[in-house]
Amino acid sequence: APALDAHRLRADFAVFDEIVDGRPVAYLDSASSTQKPRQVLDRMRHFYEHEYANVHRGVYRLAERATEGYESARRTVAAFVNAPSEREVIFTRSTTEALNLVAYAWGLDNLGPGDVVVVSELEHHANFVPWQYVASRTGASFRHIPIDDAGELQLEALETLAGEGTIKVVATGLISNSLGTINPVERIAAWAHEQGAIMVVDAAQAAPHRAVDVQALGCDFLAFSSHKLCGPSGVGALWGRRDLLEAMSPFNLGGEMIRSVGLDRTTFNELPYKFEAGTPAIAEAVGFGAAVDYVSAVGLEAIERHEHEITVYAMGRLGELGFVRLFGPPVERRAGIISFAVEGVHPHDVAQVLDWEGVAVRAGHHCTQPLMARLGVAATTRASFYLYSLPEEVDRLVDGLHKVKRSLG
Ligand code: PMP
Repeated sequence: APALDAHRLRADFAVFDEIVDGRPVAYLDSASSTQKPRQVLDRMRHFYEHEYANVHRGVYRLAERATEGYESARRTVAAFVNAPSEREVIFTRSTTEALNLVAYAWGLDNLGPGDVVVVSELEHHANFVPWQYVASRTGASFRHIPIDDAGELQLEALETLAGEGTIKVVATGLISNSLGTINPVERIAAWAHEQGAIMVVDAAQAAPHRAVDVQALGCDFLAFSSHKLCGPSGVGALWGRRDLLEAMSPFNLGGEMIRSVGLDRTTFNELPYKFEAGTPAIAEAVGFGAAVDYVSAVGLEAIERHEHEITVYAMGRLGELGFVRLFGPPVERRAGIISFAVEGVHPHDVAQVLDWEGVAVRAGHHCTQPLMARLGVAATTRASFYLYSLPEEVDRLVDGLHKVKRSLG
């Protein structure tokens, strides 16, 4: 694949034309949410101006056009993760809602005392709390795959977990949003299936950054969000294996998801509509499809390579700073996310001083409090990259950190 030209791609993002204190923002918070290219915004505007109506209902032509836009986005998203069928792709509000859907709709019916739910110690709360909650509601036990000091999963622990009951669900992320760890999900999925468990994958930090193939991973459910993939917020996707989705109870109930409703009894619609109650985020789904087209045109391999190069550069430069401690795995086994601490300075103060330099990073627990506890910190400062990130932005981060050290350290 041809290399990616980040300078050229930046022309698609109006936010980088904005000059504050003489320079554009060094946006190093794409793990939290990404910026939006004009191709996505233009598509949404066109949809609202020329194709908009509610979906799946109207017989008139405008409603048909709206439904075609929405369903075409579903086909795009399905192909993006190599789903065997577009009917297995459900539009949700987000990764969070997709994972809650599985935890509730699958978990409440399939978990009970003696069963074991397994997550990882570095899970985002979105793939941790719903499982912890549904386990406690059903009497199942809740266990985790521990990590080592570098933030990598200790798969040796799987042996012990297998002795603790009937493993029913294994839920892990492909890439850690706090440390950038790339988890060996294929191996974990194979192990889960040996136990007779289902494998649920949080791909929120993976699908925007590298090729994700649900069939190659061998998982049963996979979730990701549009807003981390150059698309609008308010929409995400859940892919699930058809037999599982068909056997599952609904999650949200109301319009659209029914076949027929009577005073005594309601029957449910076919896939994927059974899981899409109410008016969906229509234009957002269309924008999501346009975002998938955008990143696919840039090329997932090129994106992955570009982010890897920036991460190698950033780890090298940050590694030279004696007052900065880096968390997480070596660069060969991490995606474009770097969490760090500045000696003697609170992460929020680091982020505040960096903001004065026009460098946008995130400080906090990144919705991974069990991981923070394991690392022995309350919070970290985190820089994260995307297809538009530049080495110059890393230089500005490093210059900013020298200022942090001089003024607060
Ligand atoms: N999982 C991971 C790994 C994430 O990084 C995030 C977003 N920070 C989520 C889940 C939740 O995504 P959303 O807020 O879009 O629901």
